[in-house]
Amino acid sequence: MIKYEPVQVQSILNHLDERSEVFSDVYTLNPYKGCEHACQYCYVTSDKYIPYKKKEEFFCKIQSKTNASFLTKISLQTIPQDCLIIVGSACDPYQPIEKKYKNTRSVLEILCEYKNPVHIMTKSDLILRDTDLLSKITSDSFLAVSFSIAMDDELSKIFEPRSSLPSKRFKAINILSSKGIRCGVTIAPILPYIVREKLIRSIILKASDSGAKYIFADNCSLRDTNKIRFLEFIKKFYPKLIHRYEIMYSKSTLPPAVFSKKMMDLITKLADDFGLDTTLSGMYIPDKKQLELFDEENANGRE
Ligand code: SF4
Repeated sequence: MIKYEPVQVQSILNHLDERSEVFSDVYTLNPYKGCEHACQYCYVTSDKYIPYKKKEEFFCKIQSKTNASFLTKISLQTIPQDCLIIVGSACDPYQPIEKKYKNTRSVLEILCEYKNPVHIMTKSDLILRDTDLLSKITSDSFLAVSFSIAMDDELSKIFEPRSSLPSKRFKAINILSSKGIRCGVTIAPILPYIVREKLIRSIILKASDSGAKYIFADNCSLRDTNKIRFLEFIKKFYPKLIHRYEIMYSKSTLPPAVFSKKMMDLITKLADDFGLDTTLSGMYIPDKKQLELFDEENANGRE
């Protein structure tokens, strides 16, 4: 049973060390702690990232950061307007709790007001509820919506039992793209021997048909707690693969470089064939006038 808990947090933006050629800085923002989507491979359940002492609570105790929008407003007053805000790096911002608490929607309202570029990552078609705000961010600054899709519906029912089916995610891309909202597909995680070339081809074809503008991809990373949990799952549901997985992940948290390169080369080539970008921003360049205005406002104390 899933338990929802309202909490007040001390901070909401998390600065990433990651450098960007387009944005002056990058921050992540998670309106919830925990994620009820409960994907079997979830990397957030590794010791490095998991926010709960009792690790098993991550999928069933969901904390709603009720002061998320207030803290967003305060925080945005202290950073430049061309900093990218990534919504949903350690939870899905459109997991079911969002229907009731609407923290993500409240945060987007503030992001609209401050006109920072935004990148949303989700596996849920609940995002369609906020099409009005997404359109406004698109017209006033920059927005990219990345749908994580690395499976067909049947595989997704096994590995991502509580998220929207991939067919629904493609439909959401279609609807948002038709309104001029920049959407992309993240093929992640590429599960060795399960997410195969044929499946990758069909995902890229559907992404293109749905109006996606870019493709990203990422390998399956397995370490400590999430490695133990995931390999137990593979042993139970894919017993023929367990030995191959144990070998593949025996020396590193990632598959061998030769495997990763083969998959990434394939994805880059297919993206190219379909005319899809492999960058988030495409041609976006921050509006210099807006930035100059920000500098002036910042010098005078931003309201
Ligand atoms: S949606 Fe993301 S954060 Fe949530 S369980 Fe799945 S992988 Fe983890």
